[in-house]
Amino acid sequence: MFTQAVKLCRKLFASTEHNEHDSNGEIKLNIITRPEHPISRSHISDSALKVLYRLSNHGYDAFLVGGGVRDILLGKEPKDFDIATNATPEQIKDLFRNCRLIGRRFRLAHIMFGREIIEVATFRGHHQEPEKNQSAQSKEGMLLRDNVYGTVVEDAERRDFTINAMYYNIADFSIHDHANGIQDLNDGIIRMIGDPETRYREDPVRMIRAIRFAAKLDMTIADKTAQPITELAPLLSEVPSARLFEESLKLLQAGQGLATYKLLREYQLFGTLFPSVARHFTDDNSSKVEQMVETVLRSTDKRINSGKRINPAFMFAAFLWYPLQAEAEKLMHEKSLSYYDAIMAAGNHIMDEQVKSLAIPRRHTATVRDIWQLQLRLTRRTGKRAFQMLELNKFRAGFDMLEMRGAVEGGQVEELAQWWHEFQDAPVVHRQNMVQSLGHSQPSGRRKKRTYAKRKPSAKPAASE
Ligand code: ATP
Ligand code: MG
Repeated sequence: MFTQAVKLCRKLFASTEHNEHDSNGEIKLNIITRPEHPISRSHISDSALKVLYRLSNHGYDAFLVGGGVRDILLGKEPKDFDIATNATPEQIKDLFRNCRLIGRRFRLAHIMFGREIIEVATFRGHHQEPEKNQSAQSKEGMLLRDNVYGTVVEDAERRDFTINAMYYNIADFSIHDHANGIQDLNDGIIRMIGDPETRYREDPVRMIRAIRFAAKLDMTIADKTAQPITELAPLLSEVPSARLFEESLKLLQAGQGLATYKLLREYQLFGTLFPSVARHFTDDNSSKVEQMVETVLRSTDKRINSGKRINPAFMFAAFLWYPLQAEAEKLMHEKSLSYYDAIMAAGNHIMDEQVKSLAIPRRHTATVRDIWQLQLRLTRRTGKRAFQMLELNKFRAGFDMLEMRGAVEGGQVEELAQWWHEFQDAPVVHRQNMVQSLGHSQPSGRRKKRTYAKRKPSAKPAASE
């Protein structure tokens, strides 16, 4: 069904002449009637159709817009369906019992259908002249408020990329393409509507959205859209850290994390999101930090693309593990702390710095710390310890990270990961043999504690390095 949609679209636009890198994202309405395009109602969820129809039956304009239209035209299953209308939030609320109004910056209606949420937004308009309404913009041009209603044309002008400004009209099933988005979709171009620099200054998150769509859709960012990004990258630090946290998940935990990371690095956007990681970047991509980032993103992509669940905290734990080690080394050296104490103190430093950029919620930071702790605990396997470890809630996450460290470092860490790999799946008798055959190379619990206490500050357990 979806492949058919793409083919039809290709055919429709194959003959159009277009200069893919030079045109500007100007607004000019092009209406494509139902027989000329491949979107059918069977591509749209029942809930979204219900909302579209009810709005339309009550005399309002109702369009499916954004990723929903874009993804159907690309032959992909849309992640969610967004609707734009001329009904105000209050008018929307009057029509739907299952409606919640959210958002302070811009009021939106969420219509709930079980777990599915259909987001309905009233057309956004332009801001007043800056001199009349100075407080709506920061001195860098960032929009602080965004609550003016407008016409559908104004709404299209305020969207980010041409491929996101296509509106499917439920009244006659036509597509209203306001910025030549279908052509850009066919050419594989991410192009900003309007002047890219102004639009990035209004909302710096658009820089990472450009990267996200380029990676997700395997498209190229148009020259003029790409050009200002690196210079404006520092503006991202002005975006509230809670919004950046949400964006970071969409960027790196949506199935194309590795490709997205590479693009973020290329445009120098990664360092604002993960400063302590970016400090370890090398020209030849050779640091352990870089290898770990690639390893965890490759694995996350694989899990997501095969429908497996992921724990968002795991990626943060892995990203920050080697920066944590470097910081701990420094503390051991400068403050003569034991390895354990240095790791604890470094953990606080690293996490404090990280949450300034991305407001990682506490439930996730707690899991990150658990996964780090497990890296230390997994080195201790004697007596009942290995058996008890298997019962721990976070054991699997701790082990997965140990395996990734093994892949990055080899040596003793790899051997330790191999041991745990075997231990987990072995029959009980074999497990007991495994623990026993650790023999005298591993001190028993009590003796080990004393040995630790006598360790010099510089000594640390090999497998935890
Ligand atoms: P997906 O949901 O697949 O990630 P999407 O394009 O639907 O992609 P959303 O974040 O759901 O992205 O946003 C819906 C639409 O709202 C976009 O297609 C775009 O038209 C508009 N939009 C979202 N964020 C911005 C922004 N920062 N600036 C301008 N327009 C935006
Ligand atoms: Mg969407």
